[in-house]
Amino acid sequence: MYSIGPLTVAPGERAEGLIPVGTSSYGVQLGIPLVVVNGTQDGPVLCVDAGVHGDEYDGQEAVRRILADTDPAGLRGTLVGIPCMNTPAFEAAARTSGLDHLNLNRIFPGDAEGSYSQRLAAAFVEQVVPAVDALVDLHTGGTFGEIAPLVILQGGYEDLATDLALAAGHELVWKGGTWGGTVRHPTLAAGKPAITIEAGGGTYRESTVELHVHSVRTIMRRLGMTDGGAEPRDSCTTVSGTFARSTTGGFYLGHAEPGESCKEGDLIARITDHYGNTLEEVRAPRDGIVLWVRRMRTVRPGDEVVIFGEVQGAIRP
Ligand SMILES: [Zn+2]
Repeated sequence: MYSIGPLTVAPGERAEGLIPVGTSSYGVQLGIPLVVVNGTQDGPVLCVDAGVHGDEYDGQEAVRRILADTDPAGLRGTLVGIPCMNTPAFEAAARTSGLDHLNLNRIFPGDAEGSYSQRLAAAFVEQVVPAVDALVDLHTGGTFGEIAPLVILQGGYEDLATDLALAAGHELVWKGGTWGGTVRHPTLAAGKPAITIEAGGGTYRESTVELHVHSVRTIMRRLGMTDGGAEPRDSCTTVSGTFARSTTGGFYLGHAEPGESCKEGDLIARITDHYGNTLEEVRAPRDGIVLWVRRMRTVRPGDEVVIFGEVQGAIRP
């Protein structure tokens, strides 16, 4: 038997249910939706989550698709899917929850006595982390922007998570930001490999769903959960990420696409006023790769307009 949160699942069975986090003002139980497929043979427990940011849709559909298409009879170990971690944010069609406006991906391990997002993070740490062996966290660039397909491998945890990162199959590896509090952090701190996979955004696309599905399936083969080859990439390019914020409001015009290589000084984006006058130019601060670009045309002062990646080196298994 496999147990996680409120679910106990026999070998060869599947189940779904909610880890309770709190009750809405109209008396409905809110929480973390879980789908579990328990294989007939022993193996690792892989958790795949999406919807930490409510406006990142492609991963949410990818999780549902992977779980629906996984046959427990052919599975070694257990697959745990969290299709939408942050349901209040999803309902708000927003990155953050309308209940407390906190960015869930900055507040782990949370606080069981705190606001809804803090309780949600604490429930994940208490009930999901101990019940899984590895975590794949699916994101997109969000409603406001689009990101190049890449893996976030938290710096300092290379020994633990590099194999998972290479199995995801993307060329670019971002060694994580300087910030903590992501869903990766408590999982890695518990000694379990955890990565974030980013792709797409701006809108929902089937091609991004398929990209996420493909990465997770390859990781499952790499972990020995399903049959088939899953040789990791020969090498990946590691990048750091710096955020460019606009000093002015205006209309965003992009001159580079996510994943595009740039030379120092290349024009990445322009912000114009309503008359077409250029108010600001965003240029590559050095040679590197454009990781994320804005898709939302409205720019307000201080908004993110570009995430730029400087090439650090390569990882080879
Ligand atoms: Zn995200």
